[in-house]
Amino acid sequence: MKKISKQTQAVAIDLTEIAILETLMDADDYVSGNTLAQSIGISRTTIHTKMDQLKSSGFKIKAISNRGYYLEKLPKKLTPQLLHTYGKQLPENFKLFFYPSVDSTNLEAERLFSNGTLPPFAVFSHKQTAGKGRLGRKWHSQANQNLYCSIMFSPNTPPEKLQSFTLWAGIEVCRSLKALIPTLDLKIKWPNDLYCNGKKVSGILTEARIDSDRMHTIILGLGLNINSTSTTFPEEIKSIATSLRAETNQSYDMNSLSIEIIQATVRAYNKCIEASDLDSLSSAWDTFDYLKGQAITLTENGQKVSGVALGINSYGALQVKKNNGTIQSVHSGDVTLKQ
Ligand code: ATP
Repeated sequence: MKKISKQTQAVAIDLTEIAILETLMDADDYVSGNTLAQSIGISRTTIHTKMDQLKSSGFKIKAISNRGYYLEKLPKKLTPQLLHTYGKQLPENFKLFFYPSVDSTNLEAERLFSNGTLPPFAVFSHKQTAGKGRLGRKWHSQANQNLYCSIMFSPNTPPEKLQSFTLWAGIEVCRSLKALIPTLDLKIKWPNDLYCNGKKVSGILTEARIDSDRMHTIILGLGLNINSTSTTFPEEIKSIATSLRAETNQSYDMNSLSIEIIQATVRAYNKCIEASDLDSLSSAWDTFDYLKGQAITLTENGQKVSGVALGINSYGALQVKKNNGTIQSVHSGDVTLKQ
């Protein structure tokens, strides 16, 4: 039997804790121990134990004799209990896995799939010890403050159906974040990075398993800097990275935000699978286009193309107006902005 190290074991969901939590969240006042015990069908001793566990997970719960328990404050850091509670808005067959630490959430999603877990599901971790970026680059993943998650689907369709999935996911994530934080100056740098005021706030890495003409699985990994302050970023990325907190001077509940991000990704996936409204890609992209009108250099397979970025076409290819006036469509590559 394959040995699973402690590090890669998902935190087990305690349904009694969730039931207690949801009862307290729904109540405007104190809930008595008796009411909790009867409505959930557990003993008073169990309630005591579970309250202690919830407190140690960061929930602030006040207990007064003769009145019962009152939920004063929810933790802002990622907690499996809240992810599970808010995750009830997701499609019924969608599973959530939560880890204290993994090498990479994309790798963990692969492992779960290889061990028989059927998509759709999402993997979350407090930190990544080997967070992945594109082309073997590293995603810095310090503990607790930011979101590291991977969402896996099994489309089993021709790969072309999902060709614009990463782009739609970027658009849908931006739409969700803008709905929550309207003042955020959020842009997407083609094809997969989210920027605020010229600094990177999120990176997306999509990895697929394709066999001849079928795409069996696709994993969208997403790192989003949420509650890091500019001083807590590692030296290497201090000048290029930002977070929602650094941009807005306020910290965010990572649990509700994470579920919003998953929902945004599910919307993008369904859009591609159902081929609904895909023609609007270039106009939807326009709203968030970081590169449009900028002088750029694009490197694709060692070849450099310089010019002005004009946006993307309906297939998601970047349109570059070269210095000689011709327009080139580029399907993949690394973009740098000319200073
Ligand atoms: P770029 O064009 O900026 O190199 P990329 O799309 O090729 O981006 P990604 O895979 O999205 O690369 O991300 C990896 C890069 O992002 C790293 O090389 C580093 O410069 C930067 N980076 C790594 N961790 C973070 C982080 N937590 N926040 C912001 N930027 C980061």
